[in-house]
Amino acid sequence: MSHIIHRSLQSTPLTAVGARGIHIMDAQGKAYIDASGGAAVSCLGHAHPDVLAAMHAQTDKLAYAHTSFFTSEASEELASHLAAHAPRGMDKVYFTSGGSESVEAALKLARQYFVEIGQPERTLFVARGQSYHGNTLGALAVGGNEWRRRQFAPLLMDVGRVSPCYEYRGRQDGESQDAYTQRLLQELDAKFQEIGPQRVIAFVAEPVVGATLGAVPPTPGYFKGVRELCDRYGILFIADEVMCGMGRTGTLHAVEQEGVVPDLMTIAKGLGGGYQPIGAVLVRAEIIEAIRQGSGLFQHGHTYIGHPMATAAALAVQKVIQRDQLMPQVRSRGAYLMRALQAKFGQHPHVGDIRGRGLFCGIELVRDRASKATFDPELKLHARIKAQALANGLLVYPMGGTVDGRHGDHVLLAPPFIVSEADVDQIVNRLATSI
Ligand code: PMP
Repeated sequence: MSHIIHRSLQSTPLTAVGARGIHIMDAQGKAYIDASGGAAVSCLGHAHPDVLAAMHAQTDKLAYAHTSFFTSEASEELASHLAAHAPRGMDKVYFTSGGSESVEAALKLARQYFVEIGQPERTLFVARGQSYHGNTLGALAVGGNEWRRRQFAPLLMDVGRVSPCYEYRGRQDGESQDAYTQRLLQELDAKFQEIGPQRVIAFVAEPVVGATLGAVPPTPGYFKGVRELCDRYGILFIADEVMCGMGRTGTLHAVEQEGVVPDLMTIAKGLGGGYQPIGAVLVRAEIIEAIRQGSGLFQHGHTYIGHPMATAAALAVQKVIQRDQLMPQVRSRGAYLMRALQAKFGQHPHVGDIRGRGLFCGIELVRDRASKATFDPELKLHARIKAQALANGLLVYPMGGTVDGRHGDHVLLAPPFIVSEADVDQIVNRLATSI
């Protein structure tokens, strides 16, 4: 038995001993296609020579210097790169060591901003149901996954909750897409009114919903409407792009495709591409300027923020994405993956929905296509698919939606941006065999 506290305390996971390109090898010498990129992390695949070289060079130069004394060349260069490619005005960067830390930092930055500008009565966040924003207490509180929250509920801050934008299940029979979008926005407006809009700090949402629903894009105009409502009441909009960001959906930031600029945006996973643990919050300059002119100090921080090894690796990842023009490639391979999924599962009796953006795709499994009835949660269908896919040499990211009885099991695919069309065919074939 392992001495490590693994997530499952009843079994030990496989031991990974090596990885190259889109494959991971286990201790028995078996190779798996990494079709989930871990959990939408590995954007360049494994052992990319440019990233390894940058990491080696950084180790020789400087591995660590505490941010209370020093910044580093790697961190400054990465921040400049992120600022140059951020949505308009979001040119301030706060580094973290991962997704949950980014969400915590974003929540605290937003709160501190209002204290500094003399609106301390803003104390509440509004977020959506069936969402995931991380596992630390603040991030868990804004998340709307009841199964993850229930043991810790008494420890969590109150959060206003609205429905997610989830067309497959949310849109009613005969309701137009636009009417559905307007209904969601009315619900959000009503929630702000119920709380008192002057008490709300921020609305938190994932532009394309990843882990909880399986690559669900928003309806057209939804985030434009969110932005308008937030502006009307002076509420901040925090886009959580930890999973859907950093090129996964075919643009560097998923929210770009919605034509809106958030106030804060959390990123992680693909930022370091799995080479180092790193995340960040991109912030509109005015927010930081207000804090600078106020107390002049962001009341937050962790020992490893802006770690030179992490920022050097992430910078190398970003340079490869740019040099190799991987964004158009994500769009074209993503379209190919979507067509392959449609061809394989479009008529499948137990596949109710196929959706996604770029190389971020999901299929939702149902007992019955017509009624959209879900499978019995006791079947643990998602876990069985994961096990069968592993046996077939395929890593996918399935999730049991039925924990709250409101959506089906789904399988999320998020392969590295370097997948070829032949790789995509193999992924879809192995997935079909696994289902
Ligand atoms: N936000 C979102 C949208 C995520 O998908 C995740 C991780 N799945 C997190 C936050 C938390 O990130 P981490 O696991 O790196 O703490």
